[in-house]
This record gives sequence, C-alpha cells and structure tokens, in this order.
Amino acid sequence: MKRALEWQIATVRAVRPETPEVKTLTLALPDWTPHRPGQHYDVRLTAADGYSAQRSYSVASEPERRGEIDITVERIANGEVSPFLDDTVAVGDRFEVRGPIGGYFVWDRSIGGPLLLVAGGSGVVPLMAMLRHRAVAGVANPARLLYSARAYEQIIYGEELETLAKKNGLAVAYTLTRGQPEGWKGYTRRIDDAMLKEVSEPLGRQALAYVCGPTALVEVAADGLERVGLPADRIRTERFGPSGS
Ligand SMILES: Cc1cc2nc3c(=O)[nH]c(=O)nc-3n(C[C@H](O)[C@H](O)[C@H](O)COP(=O)(O)OP(=O)(O)OC[C@H]3O[C@@H](n4cnc5c(N)ncnc54)[C@H](O)[C@@H]3O)c2cc1C
Repeated sequence: MKRALEWQIATVRAVRPETPEVKTLTLALPDWTPHRPGQHYDVRLTAADGYSAQRSYSVASEPERRGEIDITVERIANGEVSPFLDDTVAVGDRFEVRGPIGGYFVWDRSIGGPLLLVAGGSGVVPLMAMLRHRAVAGVANPARLLYSARAYEQIIYGEELETLAKKNGLAVAYTLTRGQPEGWKGYTRRIDDAMLKEVSEPLGRQALAYVCGPTALVEVAADGLERVGLPADRIRTERFGPSGS
C-alpha cells in the first residue's frame, strides 16, 4: 500500500457548482487509499516558473467510493489557491495531491455513538464525509447537524442534507446569520450557548462532537459545548482559516 504522504497526480474527473462561491471537484487518484471520514488531502499547485502553493482540503466523499475523492472548495476573495480551483480548473486538468492526512478529526462506524456535528460555511465538508459514510454504511446512530451559513443560497449540500434527514434519521438545524428567506423557521443568529444547548441536549452528554469552520466559529462553538455540559474530551475541532466571517 502506498504511504499516505507521497505526492501523486490527481486528474479532475468532474466539476460541480454547489453555491455561487463553492465548487466540488471529483479527483481520480492513481494511488487511491480509503480515507477515514474527516481526513484531508494537501493540494500543491506549481506555476510554470516553479512557484508553488500548497493548501489543505477535506475529503467530502465517503471512503466506500473507490479510486476517487471529492473535495469541495469555497472561493476566498483574493486567495491564492481557492479562486484557481474554483474558477480555472476544468475536467481533465491535473495537479499534485497527497493524503489522506489526519487521525484525530475523524469519525466512522467503528466509533459509532450519538454524533453532534457543528459546521460553519465550508466547515461542513469533512462532516459531510462522515454523514455520507454513515448513510452508505447503514449506521443508525442518533446524529444531529447544526450548520451556520450566511444566507440560504450559501448552504452547501442542501438537497442532500434534506434527503439524509428524511431517509437516514439525521436532524439538521440551520442558522442563517446575514439574511433569511421569507417564512424561514430556522435560527437567525450566530451560534451561541442557547442554540448549542437546544441542538445537543437530545443526544445526551455522551455525544461525540465535531466542530469545523472558520477559527472564530470553532472557538465559540467548542467553548459553548463545554459550557452546556459536554465533556471537553468529547469535543473535536478542525479550524479552516483565520477569518471569523
Ligand atoms: C485541515 C484543513 C482542511 C480544510 N478543508 C477545506 C475544505 O474542505 N474546503 C475549503 O474551502 N477550505 C478548506 N480549508 C481551507 C484551505 O486550506 C485554504 O486555507 C483556503 O482555501 C484559502 O486558501 P487560499 O490560498 O485561497 O487563500 P490564502 O491566499 O491562503 O488567503 C487569502 C486571505 O484569506 C484569508 N483566509 C485564508 N483561509 C481562509 C478561510 N478558510 N476562511 C476565510 N478566510 C481565509 C487569509 O488570512 C488571507 O487574508 C481547510 C484547511 C485546513 C487546515
């Protein structure tokens, strides 16, 4: 089996828009190995003059899909790598990746148990890998997702989450922090302790929590979960970037 940290050349097999600022790329990997949901790959882009830039992207797909992975990339204004992946990359393009990487922010059927997922923006990506695996593997553990997005149009995987809620017993709560469609019944504020309490309580104190998103959101949510009664060693976090927006 290939060592996880060697670079290999991925070929873009498909490009799918998710929201106006987010795209999913399906990457065919010559040396594919199954990941654990929550793990990421490093992407390395190298320009003709030799300059290269490297960033991490979580695997969005479930490990049951062999030979390829999905990554879902949010375009960060003025970013070096994400606008290229979102705006320029096309089917057939090739670039370097290495992975899967990470052993702490992972969940699979062997861990099981009540599952609490808290996402901000593209922080939903590694959590989606967990939920897709949960559905494909037929795990019937209680699972809840609290997902914070700026607006309805910026919810990633919205339709699929609806299906998972209907067919796989997933409870999904959204909070839209900067604008809501008419008749919106979800939350309308930034994540706070009261919201965390409402969403986490039905799972009890033995829930395992995974929190992912912009650094500021992760800190608020992880601290809040402790304040509402979850033991610190049951809360796992992944920070995607420096911004709190
Ligand atoms: C383990 C891990 C997994 C990740 N998984 C994903 C993923 O699945 N999908 C995804 O879209 N991103 C993910 N990221 C973030 C990703 O690695 C890049 O940081 C992001 O795409 C920005 O890169 P860039 O080159 O476009 O911007 P840069 O050129 O690095 O930064 C441009 C500006 O944006 C700010 N910035 C950087 N990152 C962010 C951010 N995430 N949010 C807001 N502002 C930011 C910088 O401070 C800077 O001011 C992950 C990060 C980590 C550490």
